[in-house]
Amino acid sequence: MDSNSAPLTILKKHFGFDTFRPMQEEIILSVLNGKNCLVIMPTGGGKSICFQIPAIMQEGTFIVVSPLIALMKDQVESLKANGIEAAFINSTQNFHEEKEQLSRLNDGKIKLLYLSPEKLQNRAMYDQLKSIKISGFAIDEAHCISTWGHDFREEYSKLHFLKDKWPDVPIVALTATADKITRRDIQKQLKIDDSKIYITSFDRPNLSLQVLPGQKVYQQVKKIVARHRGESGIIYCLSRKSCEEVSAKLNSDGYNSAFYHAGIETKNRSKTQEDFIKDNVPIIVATIAFGMGIDKSNIRFVIHYNLPKNIEGYYQEIGRGGRDGLPCETVMFYSFRDVMILRDFAEESKQKEIQLAKLKRIQQYAEAEVCRRKILLTYFGEDLKEDCGNCDVCNNPPNVEDATITIQKGLSAIVRLKEKVGIGTLIDVVRGSQKSYLFQNGYNQIKTFGAGKDISYTDWQHYILQMLHHGYIEIAYDQNHVLKITEAGNEVLFNGRQVKLVKPHDAKDGFQPYLKPEPQKTQKQEFEEGLFESLRKLRKQIADSKGVPPYVVFSDASLKEMAADHPINSQEMSLISGVGDFKLEEYGEVFIVEIQKYLANSEVNNSSIRGKTYLQTLKLIKESKTIPEIAKARNIHENTVYSHLAYLVEKNLIKDINSFLSNEEIVLIQAAIKTIGNDEALKPIFDHLEEKIGYGKIKLVVSYGKVNG
Ligand code: ADP
Ligand code: ZN
Repeated sequence: MDSNSAPLTILKKHFGFDTFRPMQEEIILSVLNGKNCLVIMPTGGGKSICFQIPAIMQEGTFIVVSPLIALMKDQVESLKANGIEAAFINSTQNFHEEKEQLSRLNDGKIKLLYLSPEKLQNRAMYDQLKSIKISGFAIDEAHCISTWGHDFREEYSKLHFLKDKWPDVPIVALTATADKITRRDIQKQLKIDDSKIYITSFDRPNLSLQVLPGQKVYQQVKKIVARHRGESGIIYCLSRKSCEEVSAKLNSDGYNSAFYHAGIETKNRSKTQEDFIKDNVPIIVATIAFGMGIDKSNIRFVIHYNLPKNIEGYYQEIGRGGRDGLPCETVMFYSFRDVMILRDFAEESKQKEIQLAKLKRIQQYAEAEVCRRKILLTYFGEDLKEDCGNCDVCNNPPNVEDATITIQKGLSAIVRLKEKVGIGTLIDVVRGSQKSYLFQNGYNQIKTFGAGKDISYTDWQHYILQMLHHGYIEIAYDQNHVLKITEAGNEVLFNGRQVKLVKPHDAKDGFQPYLKPEPQKTQKQEFEEGLFESLRKLRKQIADSKGVPPYVVFSDASLKEMAADHPINSQEMSLISGVGDFKLEEYGEVFIVEIQKYLANSEVNNSSIRGKTYLQTLKLIKESKTIPEIAKARNIHENTVYSHLAYLVEKNLIKDINSFLSNEEIVLIQAAIKTIGNDEALKPIFDHLEEKIGYGKIKLVVSYGKVNG
């Protein structure tokens, strides 16, 4: 138990990360204070740590309820790989396996126990749980509790018994589904009405967004996979048949792919999923049946061969890419044929109205001429102020004009119509149509009647679409699709917020997507490809020998950082993001040896490669750049910059450290070194300084001390 450390220390020690992502720390502190909470973060946002760290820090066992049985094993493996005692109990285990886990549980050995909701409600299990100390409950995929959500599970609806039976144990409910009705439902059903709701941004800036016309799709797909050779990716298709066909074509074109859909035997499906997770097969061509149980962090592209059914599903599917924070390319193909097929599906469904409306929204997304990320975030209730710069529209923007006055007319009409009409009526009103229903309802009496008659009906449609995309208005699907004004809309109407929209005549030809034959710009990365490949191979060997997925050993992000920074001793290795104490101990040495081997070999061919990364930092120092500037320019951590400085000091390439640290910092660190000593480990010094000064700075002073006696 680590009850005396701060959450940040645990984060570094067990997970190897230097900083919390937004809200993680607040959530952790609130759980530690015994408070219930509801966490809403996008897929890949980092929900798990919010309950894992409190679990590590507290006495007893934290119970994690998850409907995704297939995921439990990998989640437990990932925790164990970080030196955290975890276990799962679900229907995939036999009697003996379950018994073994129960005895570990009784011995108080388990910090995190993953349970399926069925197991949790089992009488014997209940008795078990009553006999141990429980530090908290995490309800993962909490939206499954709501019949309103898209993934209702019967067993979830009984979870209200947790608060009845354990009134003082905090509950953390987590989901990536944000809508307000589901949110309220979760609170009500779990009996945590008092819970604070933590919502982070749904933005995933590392996912690039692109929509291409659905013609000659396979040819276009081939180009995309070609620029991701050897990398993992998912291709979503609408039908089972096309999954099989596309996969076969890819294989005959020399790519290694497999297909996955609900029509395949469970056994084979699990095998395909495992092959993907373990990096044996890089490309999966699948229906949306694939992905729920996938926690793989290094998916580098997600393609939608067909138009998805709705924005929620689409966003969740692309969200499976780039969980490690590295770039992921996403491309959707859009054709009218798909729209027709999906319309038919919707017509037959039980929630016909809603499905059709949602289809319309994704269609609007596909046809949009404004920043696509803005549209997505608006849909989830966020107001992104700047265009994103990482979507096809941003990279090739259409013509815009100041449309503030026009939009104000539209908004004003909505207000005067008391937010009770839909798009068609609104246009009729602003255009001053003579249709009889307008007169019957007295709409001809309102002040804005006919205020926009100089604009054609289709151009108004075009403007209203953009108003929706920009988030000035929203459609109330549950109230006959009437238009409502948002906060941002009120700002335009009452505070004169300026609005720039695409000129309609530029878009008259309809959908004009931007073909991009060039590889997408990826984030700046300065790592050695060759070294990255060697490290990947090493990771795969280790993973296979342990029977775990490669990303459990290290993420792509960690390997790329190693390939950029060349850590060659355990101090340097500990600075790499994702390298916690346990992994350092377990794998540090073999990876260091691999890096040294690579550097030694490269030296024969390229004598400048060793130290190259340090020399680049030196060059920037000589240009009088500050440490934050260097970190930003090189896309590395400030900590890493400090460790470069330490290396440069040791090599006598930098003589003075006063300009990098404050006097106070130097004095404090030197005093700590005096008390603790300066052999290998920096951690005792870090602790002695009450975690107030980062490892990089400490290392710099240690190196300086070594050189200067
Ligand atoms: P979610 O459950 O929200 O989909 P996860 O908890 O699986 O997301 O986290 C997604 C990824 O982000 C994981 O690979 C995880 O290790 C990483 N991650 C989480 N928190 C941090 C952090 N503070 N710093 C760096 N990486 C993090
Ligand atoms: Zn954009």
